[in-house]
Amino acid sequence: MAADPKNAPVISNLKKEVKILAREIVAGVRESNYFPAFAEMTMQGEIEGVTVRGKADRVDADTKNHAIVIDYKTGAVDRQSLQLPLYISFLPKKYTADGAYYLSLKPGNFKMIESKGNPEAAGEIVRAIKRGEIAPSPKDANVCRYCPARFICRGGEHEEN
Ligand code: SF4
Repeated sequence: MAADPKNAPVISNLKKEVKILAREIVAGVRESNYFPAFAEMTMQGEIEGVTVRGKADRVDADTKNHAIVIDYKTGAVDRQSLQLPLYISFLPKKYTADGAYYLSLKPGNFKMIESKGNPEAAGEIVRAIKRGEIAPSPKDANVCRYCPARFICRGGEHEEN
């Protein structure tokens, strides 16, 4: 299928941004003591008897099997997120975890941001769910207005008031 000529400027800009990002990523790897070991690595582990699975964008390692987990982010970064600490705890045994980082890919603001999440919190979340404590906590309450579950969900009731 031929590309719509109206999209040419968007495609051109995207190509430029991809080139800039690729250059930044390669420069970052060159300056680092770690080298990319895995991309899109499946991470899986047990939290309180519940299987948790995800995919790490990148895992870098040095020659002594010290590893860092990297997640690419084009939007906002939540340093307290449990995602990367969990990936760290799911690393294959041969690796020693040196840290976990979000790589912000925002144009003009390309940087590594260290994850500060606490993996112990994941265990408490799973235990609470098992106890039936699953409080609705939408990040944006406006979404409740359009949610088909709003009449049976406490988040929905909150929004109706
Ligand atoms: S009504 Fe409940 S399920 Fe629907 S978006 Fe809001 S919190 Fe989530």
